Amino acid sequence: LASNEWKKEPTKVNVKDVEIGGEKIVVAAGPCAVESEEQVETVAKAVKRAGASLLRGGAFKPRTSPYSFQGLGEGGLKILRKVSDEVGLPIVTEIMDARDLPLFKQYDIDMLQIGARNAQNFTLLKEVGKFGKPVLLKRGMANTVEEWLQSAEYLLSEGNGNVVLCERGIRTFEKATRFTLDIGGMVAAKMMTHLPMCADPSHPAGKRELVHSLALASVAAGADMLIIEVHPNPEKALSDSEQQLTPESFEVLMNRIKALANAL
Ligand code: PEP
Ligand code: MN
Repeated sequence: LASNEWKKEPTKVNVKDVEIGGEKIVVAAGPCAVESEEQVETVAKAVKRAGASLLRGGAFKPRTSPYSFQGLGEGGLKILRKVSDEVGLPIVTEIMDARDLPLFKQYDIDMLQIGARNAQNFTLLKEVGKFGKPVLLKRGMANTVEEWLQSAEYLLSEGNGNVVLCERGIRTFEKATRFTLDIGGMVAAKMMTHLPMCADPSHPAGKRELVHSLALASVAAGADMLIIEVHPNPEKALSDSEQQLTPESFEVLMNRIKALANAL
């Protein structure tokens, strides 16, 4: 169902009034993790002003160590909903466990993210497919393009056609970056499917100095959407502090993205 042999015309995914896969490049921006209402509010206003159309932020965080900050959970969803309504940016946030779906319904979360670590959690994929809200499906860090598209198939076969794929970097031997952003794989996937394509330049970069270049490379390669981590005070962030952009740097990046998109 994800194949463009099955469906020829490109799919457009609507998250409230935001169209992904259309003419315009959609940018989701916000902190790695929701930390406080003030933090999310500050960043949401700043990224909206800079031209972002979706607000990202994790309430449930898939951390490598159980001793690291795990996210605010329900409290995080509550903050996202409140700030989203105030500022006027629909939300994209990660779901890690199908048992939390009632909370995602209660706070009327606009787009559900499946993280790289759950990209092959097939029971979660089936439940999220049944849930019906638009999904941002990250590529597993050790998944081939073929496997990634099969994960999308789990969502589509449950009747949810509103799926956006997201390349977020894969594991390779290279240590100069946190993950290897697989631009080639992203382009290859785009040629095989009708689903829109997102790129996450933040997680493969691992350091904020690399984020602009990876974002621009993704746009040049045909990404329909970007998801970028922005924090009001990155040094103080409770997760991924080295890769989050300041609101000022994000604004500069947005201008570079617009200029590049116009030139393509
Ligand atoms: C995230 O977007 O915050 C995240 C945890 O991403 P990934 O699943 O790609 O590591
Ligand atoms: Mn992160």
